[in-house]
Amino acid sequence: MSKNLYFTVGPAELYFTAEEHIKTALKEQIPSISHRSIAFQNIYRKAAGNLRELLSIPESYHILFLSSGTETWERILQNCVEETSCHLVNGSFSKRFAQTAEALNIKTEVFKAKHGECISPEDIILSNNAELIALTYNETSTGAMQPVKDIFELRKAFPDTLLAVDVVSAAPYIDFPIEQVDTLFFSVQKGIGLPAGLGIWIVNEKCLRKAEQKQEKGLSIGTYHSIPGLLENAVKYMTPETPNVLGIYLLGQVLEDMNRKGMKQIKQETNYKAAVLYQAIESCNYLKPFVSNKEFQSKTTIVAELTNGASSEKLHQYLKAKNMVVSTGYGDYKNQHIRIANFPTHSKEQVEMLADALLAFEV
Ligand SMILES: *Cc1c(COP(=O)(O)O)cnc(C)c1O
Repeated sequence: MSKNLYFTVGPAELYFTAEEHIKTALKEQIPSISHRSIAFQNIYRKAAGNLRELLSIPESYHILFLSSGTETWERILQNCVEETSCHLVNGSFSKRFAQTAEALNIKTEVFKAKHGECISPEDIILSNNAELIALTYNETSTGAMQPVKDIFELRKAFPDTLLAVDVVSAAPYIDFPIEQVDTLFFSVQKGIGLPAGLGIWIVNEKCLRKAEQKQEKGLSIGTYHSIPGLLENAVKYMTPETPNVLGIYLLGQVLEDMNRKGMKQIKQETNYKAAVLYQAIESCNYLKPFVSNKEFQSKTTIVAELTNGASSEKLHQYLKAKNMVVSTGYGDYKNQHIRIANFPTHSKEQVEMLADALLAFEV
């Protein structure tokens, strides 16, 4: 059986060097080392250092490890919000961020955009109470990516409100300076190309202060994964719990490989491959980009709508016969859309091969 090439958005194709690093990790018995050892501290230090370099994360931001993107939604809300959060909702993931707040008895102010679009900062009017704005940079369910200028505008319009940005299906492709936001997060099974089970949470001092204020008022900020609890350990390159040591080790290795290539080249390649895919989709008589406004078209999650009565099942089968796997549409769009991941592990040649296959499919 030949290997599939996964263009799925998550879990995704592993980064092309991951297999070699997994083998080395097993040979070196990384999963069995103590998380209270110097060996582990060095693993944490390396992963955090390489991430800082790749994403140009300022020294004043802390890098913390959680278990998933979903967990991070909850931790941000528990630590950084007392009563009210504001949510920009334009698809299923941004909606779940808001629903997480509601489940924690937080009042939400929700601004909605149609699927495939993004909320314009001019349309956001906050009450005085909103403590945090939650924005999903890349809405994985629809393939809409918030233009970077909007993040600058939000920051300028609401300098005192914490700005939390979900970059789960974009990272490492982040086109805004980290300083523009107070906290951001992702998990590793998407653009980083590693096995699932590790979330990365980046926070600044404002987030820490907010959590401490909540704590001083006697309010709950959760237990082992609170910002102060995580930080107390992170300053020693440790974690409160037994963490995903293997995942953190692999992250450090893969990020080192990505740094060797450099963020500038990764971004250029991502832009090129996205252009190839959108062009193919526009040229097919049975597909069109779901996100019609080019300004909102995601570079990392390309979503195409099936037209002309094309069968999604046949298309998936056709691609599968060529050992290529793409994601179905999300939720209600399951049979109406396909979603294609454009991550750093996908080479130009692989993306061109997928584009050619899409062009050759007969409805
Ligand atoms: C996948 C995803 C999540 C959830 O991340 P998990 O690591 O699967 O919990 C959150 N937000 C976005 C935008 C996602 O694509």
